[in-house]
Amino acid sequence: MKFRVDLNACQSMGQCSFTAPDLFPLDDDGVLEFAEPGAQEYVSEELTADDGELAEEASFLCPMRAISMH
Ligand code: SF4
Repeated sequence: MKFRVDLNACQSMGQCSFTAPDLFPLDDDGVLEFAEPGAQEYVSEELTADDGELAEEASFLCPMRAISMH
């Protein structure tokens, strides 16, 4: 299982990082570290079962519905 973040939909609200800071690290400006300038999306590496559960919770909590599981 992997998670995907639609970086166009993400509004840097940070709920994902509160839930799973290791999976959704924020930089000093409160932006997801993996959100490269100009990138449309980020797809994670294959997740462990525990990380998959955390990512699913973050997906549920994201107010922009920017996180999807694959
Ligand atoms: S919770 Fe959603 S909108 Fe907020 S930073 Fe995470 S992915 Fe972006």
